[in-house]
Amino acid sequence: MLNACPTTINFDVYQPRNPKASAYYRCVEDHFEQLEAVWDERYQRRFGFWRPYVMDVIQRYMDCGDLHFGFARVKCEDCGHEYLLAYSCKRRHFCPSCHQKRVVEFGEWLCEEVLKHVPHRQWVFSIPKRIRIYFLFDRKLLTKLSRCAWKVLNLYLTQAVPYDDAKAGAAVAVQSFGDFQNFHPHLHILVTDGCLYNDAAFMVCPPPDTSELEKLFRYEVFKMLKAEGKITDCKIENMMNWHHSGFSVYCGKAIWPQNEDGLANLARYIIRASFSQERMKYVAAQDSSDGIAKVIYESKDGKTSKTFEALDWLAQLITHIPNKGEQMIRYYGFYSNKSRGLRKKAGTDDEVPALIDSALSRKAFRKNWACLIQKIYHVDPLLCPKCLGSMRIIAFIEDQQIVKKILQHLDLWHVKRKPPARANDPPTQAIIIFDDSSASDADAYLIDADRTSLRLSTGYPIETYL
Ligand SMILES: [Zn+2]
Ligand SMILES: [Zn+2]
Repeated sequence: MLNACPTTINFDVYQPRNPKASAYYRCVEDHFEQLEAVWDERYQRRFGFWRPYVMDVIQRYMDCGDLHFGFARVKCEDCGHEYLLAYSCKRRHFCPSCHQKRVVEFGEWLCEEVLKHVPHRQWVFSIPKRIRIYFLFDRKLLTKLSRCAWKVLNLYLTQAVPYDDAKAGAAVAVQSFGDFQNFHPHLHILVTDGCLYNDAAFMVCPPPDTSELEKLFRYEVFKMLKAEGKITDCKIENMMNWHHSGFSVYCGKAIWPQNEDGLANLARYIIRASFSQERMKYVAAQDSSDGIAKVIYESKDGKTSKTFEALDWLAQLITHIPNKGEQMIRYYGFYSNKSRGLRKKAGTDDEVPALIDSALSRKAFRKNWACLIQKIYHVDPLLCPKCLGSMRIIAFIEDQQIVKKILQHLDLWHVKRKPPARANDPPTQAIIIFDDSSASDADAYLIDADRTSLRLSTGYPIETYL
């Protein structure tokens, strides 16, 4: 499989990141306990009840890539070179490293397994400020919002292709955030620019009139909110009279199937993270003139920035953490799970991939992860940095006593300020954490072949423990 990877990369020695040095990490570490403590009083009215799952996400992020919580040993089959691989938290949106991996994984999977070789377009559907709060307090409505948009798009696309079996396909991604992490639910949709019909044919649609679609979308959303008991006829009537409806429908340029990069970029864009570490600055309480910690966040175009109290910024940020198992992407029409399943059964489609959160997609990901990580970080985790031989995972070390012994032996054991929260939890998946920085202490995480043959202080070779 590795041979299938691009080979133009300069295979350097690994540079595991030092996540705890980042401004973001320090901001989280300084405030997460206080955030929970003051939530009810300070944020509940604005952002809804405290979600205990959020604390799980935060704590796992803080342990992500930390060797103290266990690791895998990876060894070169040719020269015996070995290093330790820390576990990752795999939590969406909150952990920048894990989210970024998911973004690449998703882009690859969507383009290869779901989207057909036909033209596509990106659509963006958004809703007025006044009704956003319903979606914050009741996240299930986000699914219904996806369906409203699909209904409208599907109507337009199937109307334009006059065959009974015409079918459009869409991947609808919910994004809950605006430029400054404010709660701003909207939909990014990658949809076929026409319909498939008669088994193998595809007909392109005429250019759309977005204002027509906007009216339909508004109608569907009001209907849905009314059925859910959120708004009354009176309020709908009032909002219908607004000069600017606040609803908007944007339609991007058509992307032709030959433009594979364009499509892959778009696929990645629709599940991008709610914030960018590069755009944030953290001023800790002790460095702040008024003694209150701050986050200064720059807009996407770099032209403006906003200063938040760090606690307020974090409170806002966690509203974008999806609930456990909550799907942020849905597939409709020709791309629905059901359609893909039927085609698979009939042998008319390639292997059917599961949703991004399911076990199967993780399996599919593992198959490709070396290749994918190479694309992001320009290194190949399963390629030996010394001899370019192939490496494999030879053991998972989870027992806290053994973890401690090995790390102490390698002088990598550092007493943490906070005790390990969940030492007995099973690890999720072993993965290497990299970044592009060339941290001078990066090599500290590497074990070279000579050192592994050393004996622990008890006199046993390291293998005795494993
Ligand atoms: Zn080697
Ligand atoms: Zn993580």
